[in-house]
Amino acid sequence: MDLSFGPEYEEFRAEVQTFLREHGGRSPQNAGMRAPESLAWQKLLIENGYTARTIPKEYGGFGAPPDIIKSRIIAEEFADARVNTGLGGQGISMLVPTLLEMGTEAQKLELIKPTIQGEMIWCQGYSEPGAGSDLASLTTRAVLDGDEWVVNGQKIWTSTAQLADWIFCLVRTEPDAPKHKGISFLLFKMDTPGIEIRPLVDMTGVANFNETFFTDVRLPKDQIVGQRGEGWMVANAVLGHERDSLGNPNNTLMRLNALTELMKTETVGGERLIDNPVYRDRLMQIQGRVMAMRFNDLRVLSSRLNKGQDAALARMIVKLQGTELRHDLEGMAIDILGEVGLSYGDNPHTRSAGSWQSQYMYYLGLIIGGGTSQIQKNIISERGLDMPREPKVEKAG
Ligand SMILES: Cc1cc2nc3c(=O)[nH]c(=O)nc-3n(C[C@H](O)[C@H](O)[C@H](O)COP(=O)(O)OP(=O)(O)OC[C@H]3O[C@@H](n4cnc5c(N)ncnc54)[C@H](O)[C@@H]3O)c2cc1C
Repeated sequence: MDLSFGPEYEEFRAEVQTFLREHGGRSPQNAGMRAPESLAWQKLLIENGYTARTIPKEYGGFGAPPDIIKSRIIAEEFADARVNTGLGGQGISMLVPTLLEMGTEAQKLELIKPTIQGEMIWCQGYSEPGAGSDLASLTTRAVLDGDEWVVNGQKIWTSTAQLADWIFCLVRTEPDAPKHKGISFLLFKMDTPGIEIRPLVDMTGVANFNETFFTDVRLPKDQIVGQRGEGWMVANAVLGHERDSLGNPNNTLMRLNALTELMKTETVGGERLIDNPVYRDRLMQIQGRVMAMRFNDLRVLSSRLNKGQDAALARMIVKLQGTELRHDLEGMAIDILGEVGLSYGDNPHTRSAGSWQSQYMYYLGLIIGGGTSQIQKNIISERGLDMPREPKVEKAG
């Protein structure tokens, strides 16, 4: 069966391959978000249309018309070459697409360009000690004082707050309204007086997330996305983009390629891991799931771009399946590496700089972050399959 995209796209594929041959060596490996090599690589990718491809030029993007096949070819070629696809993070993956849909022109002009260039790092202030899965129970409040919002309260699990320049934050602005209706979506700088960040160490051993406290934090009145009291709608748009980004099948394909390569080079008792029929069978099962997610991704893209529909159900399964698949994929590498798989951190015996172990744990976290698998299953059954809604249990007190 011929699964190629046809001759008209082969020229484009050749262009991407030439770029990767000429420049792929400059792609940063394990560099931080602010590292000069990460920023330079991001700039090069934007200039050539390999990231921020469809974002309009006036907001700092490449300005290409949407073309799902070209986007697919870029993803495939970068995955095959195992070359870094550029910066991600909550600003680029979640806030920018939301601003494009719902931001004011002034917000788009001010915020999108520095964000996609990696110069403006964002964090997400959603979860609170009493509001995780039941996010609409949040109590961080903001009151209007003249031309400023004044924010008080606490967020938790705020990833990258310690690095972020700005936060997008859910606050309660209408305390007397029903809980989903009294929320607003504010944007403010992380160096505003009154913000305190306390690091939390996760199971990878690194303080990736934080507790974030707000005491009389003041920000201009217009730093709001959407209308006052209608932040729940904006929050859900962000969550939709978050679910897409957390289960990204292109990154999973890249890891599948790395796993296959590992199995070709590593040996046990003189036998390559790839030649062991039990391991090969497991690899094929993982590969089948990766293929299924990639075709689901194509279904999402084609529904959105060609038919103008929202592929709601197909989109909903991405986070659930994608994060669990990735966790299984990373875990398989640990498993088949035997004793070496158990080494961790800076142990000299680790393979691939210990990334199998750290990604295995990181993806266990991502099965929870952005809405747990149980919540994803509720959403899929209720909103996707029209099954009866679960009974609402009001909190005591
Ligand atoms: C790695 C990581 C990064 C994160 N980054 C951020 C961030 O940057 N910003 C941010 O705001 N938050 C962040 N979070 C928080 C994340 O969104 C919450 O942890 C998540 O929404 C779950 O909320 P919770 O921890 O309060 O658990 P709870 O809501 O208390 O859930 C506890 C358990 O009960 C289950 N449960 C709850 N309600 C139901 C239900 N109705 N039906 C079935 N099961 C249910 C859950 O699935 C879970 O197993 C991050 C979390 C992780 C792990």
